[in-house]
Amino acid sequence: MHEVTMMRNVVDAVLEQAMQHEGSSIGQVRLVIEASDHLSEEGVRQLFAMLAANTPAAQAIVDVAWEPAQYQCILCRQIFPCDHPTADVTCPHCGGMAMPVSHSVACKIASIQVL
Ligand SMILES: [Zn+2]
Repeated sequence: MHEVTMMRNVVDAVLEQAMQHEGSSIGQVRLVIEASDHLSEEGVRQLFAMLAANTPAAQAIVDVAWEPAQYQCILCRQIFPCDHPTADVTCPHCGGMAMPVSHSVACKIASIQVL
């Protein structure tokens, strides 16, 4: 479960920020995540809520901005960005089957609002 590990890292980083401001809580977290066919904004929020339960980040509003994922065609080896990955992404150049270039979902924290 890459997503759980990814979100655990996010929650850890967020809580570290909260810890530096004693008694504070997290208002909003902005994430930039590489588009993935098995991850939705709703799924990200659910994971965050689950992992942040009973912490200062429990009430945080999670905003997600998606970055295109990089796919590579298995036939012509072209690499192209894909905004809306599905289970079967096809190559825009030759119509061949394409696979994600990276096997883990890249996630960056854009900002953390500490209340
Ligand atoms: Zn191709």
